[in-house]
Amino acid sequence: MIWTLPALALLLQGVPSLATIWAGGREYESHDALIASGRRCATKTYTTQEIEKIEAKFEAEHAEITSNAEGRNLRLTIDNSINVYWWAITGDGPTDGNYDPMYVGTAIGVLNSVYNPIGFFFNLAESQQVYNPTWFNGYDELGMKESLRYGTAHDLNIYTLLGDYPLGSATYPFEYKFDPVWDGVMINYLTLPNIMTDQGTPSEYERGFQLAHQVGHWLGLYHTFQDGCRAVTRGGDWIHSTPAEFSAASGCPIGRDSCTGHVKFAGYDPIDNIMDFTAEPCQAGLLPEQGARMARQMLVYRNNEEAPIPCVGLCGRTSEQVWRVKEVL
Ligand SMILES: [Zn+2]
Repeated sequence: MIWTLPALALLLQGVPSLATIWAGGREYESHDALIASGRRCATKTYTTQEIEKIEAKFEAEHAEITSNAEGRNLRLTIDNSINVYWWAITGDGPTDGNYDPMYVGTAIGVLNSVYNPIGFFFNLAESQQVYNPTWFNGYDELGMKESLRYGTAHDLNIYTLLGDYPLGSATYPFEYKFDPVWDGVMINYLTLPNIMTDQGTPSEYERGFQLAHQVGHWLGLYHTFQDGCRAVTRGGDWIHSTPAEFSAASGCPIGRDSCTGHVKFAGYDPIDNIMDFTAEPCQAGLLPEQGARMARQMLVYRNNEEAPIPCVGLCGRTSEQVWRVKEVL
């Protein structure tokens, strides 16, 4: 018997999908289950009230800087070329975080493919492999960052590890002045481009967009579903060109329109935006308006010409633990 597509579709109607998904080295029943686990993104979620205060301060600071940049020794022409310091934390198992340096180059390439069109450029300044099972397993984040973090507010420190399998987390630009040592992005190393496929378990979260998502937070972006449908009247993600959505979108729900009936922010949910929670094959990148917001965030929070945090950065290195990606690329 030859199956025709309509007949097959009829047969499959109402049959629950048994397919599971893999993300960051862990198996989930569905994309929804990944989101429900809290591991899709471990960046801190601020409340609507907190964000409104944060944004009010941001706008005030931006106005003050643009009116008095010279007096504060700040630049108004922002350098959006960002140096990256990459820390590959490894654990006890032979493959625990111990990936080939080529994955770093590929990940930086994806980052640039997402960000170059909206005016940001990432340059791998230094990379180092660091053996520390405690850090690899997600403990002593402060100790790790105190030992490794390098540079100023303008420099991006990326740590790859596994922990309890979150796909990634980041700090926001405004947090820097309170906790400079914490500043940076942590990424599940099993979300690096193609790494799970190369290990035999393909994943819909291994195109490098998890890193791009977290860098979006690091440059001041919120999730597209921030404030849900209330984003019509509140700030939402503070980006007008991303329509409000009731909740995080999962998988690839083409045509989803979870906030309807409003004139403002009309349109389908921005499921192709990397600041949503959709699967990576569904995602395309970021919007120019998001680039403009990130540039303003850079101006206010990542533009000062302070000295780098002393030493620490490259101090923990031992020769047998080190590979240098720049020499490989
Ligand atoms: Zn996020």
